[in-house]
Amino acid sequence: MKSYDVIIAGAGPAGLRCAEILAKNNKKVLVLEKNKSIGSKVCAGGITLKCLEMGIPNKIIQRKFKKAMIHTPHQTTEIKLDKPFVATINREDLGKWMAQKAKNSGAEIITDSKVTKFYQKHIVVNEKNKIGYKHLVGADGSSSIIRKQLGIKTINFAEAFHYITPKKFNNIEIFFNPDCFGAFYAWIFPHKSFTSIGTGADLSKKIKQPVFNLKLHDIKKNFDEWCSKRFDLSKARFEASIINYDYRGHDFGNKFLIGDAGGFASGLTGEGIYFAIKSGEDIARRIIDNKYNYPNIQHILKIKKIEEKIARTLERNKTISKIEHEMMVAMARVKWLNKKMVRFVD
Ligand SMILES: Cc1cc2nc3c(=O)[nH]c(=O)nc-3n(C[C@H](O)[C@H](O)[C@H](O)COP(=O)(O)OP(=O)(O)OC[C@H]3O[C@@H](n4cnc5c(N)ncnc54)[C@H](O)[C@@H]3O)c2cc1C
Repeated sequence: MKSYDVIIAGAGPAGLRCAEILAKNNKKVLVLEKNKSIGSKVCAGGITLKCLEMGIPNKIIQRKFKKAMIHTPHQTTEIKLDKPFVATINREDLGKWMAQKAKNSGAEIITDSKVTKFYQKHIVVNEKNKIGYKHLVGADGSSSIIRKQLGIKTINFAEAFHYITPKKFNNIEIFFNPDCFGAFYAWIFPHKSFTSIGTGADLSKKIKQPVFNLKLHDIKKNFDEWCSKRFDLSKARFEASIINYDYRGHDFGNKFLIGDAGGFASGLTGEGIYFAIKSGEDIARRIIDNKYNYPNIQHILKIKKIEEKIARTLERNKTISKIEHEMMVAMARVKWLNKKMVRFVD
């Protein structure tokens, strides 16, 4: 049986960044990806300043924006900075770039290879081939098989959905409207040749009642009606997927969870690319040095705690939620608050 120091299930941003660092540090690393190619993922491809500052090259970036339009039913505010603070990226380009970096560092990546089961010292691929490991990293996204087999529940998750339309838009736009989208928001994220227009619904099982009594199908219906009043979506493609934001640990002896598999995505904004990359970095460094104490993950968990509080406040009562959104967007008119707000979201 072939054997590796580390096997990583899933070649998303979390798994690829983890593989790159491990391979650079002379670990024998194998990344297994269930799809035939790397990078395709249901995702709006929006990234914020912290991700831009990580050094993602311009060739991966679709568009950069120095301003974003924020709307409520009663007002529109422009958040404007003197440098780009938000951008869109193509997930396939990001995947290919990250995979190349991991390969250049010495990692092996095999596609069309689904991890179907793990045992204490080996995994099973495509239900037949066995490969040995010392460390196993679950980077297999929101429906992670590694997470399930570890027996970790997923109670807090959202479903996000969007239309990909060839129509071009000039600005990043965010829409708050609790009557329509509950406590979540709708977005317009323009890329070079298409635009992602989407929203989501929190399907968290710990909320006894759906937020403002809006079930997933109500939000989808409201979203479709909202879209049909504004855009021609006859040539658009609809896509939907789960976002797991239910963090319940990342270190399980010689097994680890990163990215969406570990529930590192934001339950407030749905952002997950940055958190996937940063959690992947930390696990790699911990495997290299067992005294490493996960500074990125500790930081992410702090952010998640604050976000959880904000989310629960926004979900408490529809009227209060409306007032909170209106106040927040009104405050964004104050120029010096723009920078602070961008940094807070960051
Ligand atoms: C509609 C929507 C819009 C979004 N928009 C944004 C956004 O604008 N900005 C943002 O930051 N985040 C966004 N997200 C979230 C973001 O896509 C994820 O948080 C991010 O992709 C997580 O990265 P990951 O590496 O953990 O997992 P993934 O990107 O999901 O990668 C996991 C990989 O594992 C593979 N895999 C799965 N199971 C197996 C298996 N058993 N064996 C082998 N391989 C396997 C998958 O094929 C995949 O390639 C969005 C999500 C959705 C659903």
